[in-house]
Amino acid sequence: MVEVDGARGEGGGQILRTSLALSIITGQPLHIRNIRANRAKPGLRRQHATCVLAAARLCDAQVVGGEVNSRDLEFRPGRSTGTGAPRVLDIDIGSPGAISLVLQTILVPAIAMGEQLTATISGGTHNPLAPPFDFLDRVFLPLLRAMGADVRLELNRYGFAPGEGRSDSLGSVTMVIGSGALRPIDILDARPVTDRRATALSCRLPSHVAERELAVVMHELGWERDELLARDVRGNAIANVLMLEVNRGAARELVTVHGEKGLPAERVAKRACDELAAFLALEVPVGEHLADQLLLPMAVAGGGRFRTGPLSLHATTNIDTIQQFLDVPIRCDEVSGTTTVSIG
Ligand code: ATP
Repeated sequence: MVEVDGARGEGGGQILRTSLALSIITGQPLHIRNIRANRAKPGLRRQHATCVLAAARLCDAQVVGGEVNSRDLEFRPGRSTGTGAPRVLDIDIGSPGAISLVLQTILVPAIAMGEQLTATISGGTHNPLAPPFDFLDRVFLPLLRAMGADVRLELNRYGFAPGEGRSDSLGSVTMVIGSGALRPIDILDARPVTDRRATALSCRLPSHVAERELAVVMHELGWERDELLARDVRGNAIANVLMLEVNRGAARELVTVHGEKGLPAERVAKRACDELAAFLALEVPVGEHLADQLLLPMAVAGGGRFRTGPLSLHATTNIDTIQQFLDVPIRCDEVSGTTTVSIG
């Protein structure tokens, strides 16, 4: 059994998600204690308990301590390779918790199992502190496909937090995985930006909110009108999300800032523009969040390299967790503010 201390490094939910994924992939039982010890409300929250449930359903695991508030979990995977039969998972977080983090838990193991899977998760599609649907769809998944995976996502309904917990009012995403194994890739060159797109989502808000945000993007970044999109969407809560996307050829980056009550639309947009400008100034292909998310698939592929900015505590904690399960070397070379991560 692999013993994981959930208080190590960042001490957050990523240790749980990566450990569950690697327990399934390697077939090794997992015992994790001090779950999310460094968070204000430690232990499993509803979204994390759903990650455990989704992981257990994927591989027919036996679970002890998978309920909300638990700080100690035993997870015994039933099988780590596919039976060949297509599987269907239908999972409801029961709150607008982040669908993307549930998908993050089962995505790489499902690819590694090499069987067809259709998973529909309901919850939140655009949550602060998690990849929005668009990040998975437009930034992360194209790279998994470049690594050999057959995977796609569909957004069935938008879901925003905070909002009501009724499942028919929550967001919903379907992930479809076919056969295809992961192989190493290199993402090292920051090529000139080829296309750009600003999307201002609003739900139950007047149209001037998105329009003011996009005007700031045009002014601050010099983007053209046909690169700006205001989308008024239906959903379970009042919400505003501004996303700025650039394509650097080898990889994309998508910066997200969530509107908040009392925060003027201009400030939301300025934050997003500043964050994107800081990323572009680094002249690297891989942004901060993509960096921590690429570690698992590359480690499972047995290799890969990418260039990013300084590694976050989230990323270094993820490396530490991966190395508890896999005997794959991960080297990080830092030169004047940029980091080259070499796996395998
Ligand atoms: P918790 O303990 O509350 O579950 P956590 O430690 O799991 O938190 P976070 O730091 O909130 O995790 O990050 C979760 C994941 O979401 C990480 O993979 C991170 O890269 C990703 N993420 C967070 N914000 C964004 C964003 N704006 N765009 C893309 N990905 C993001």
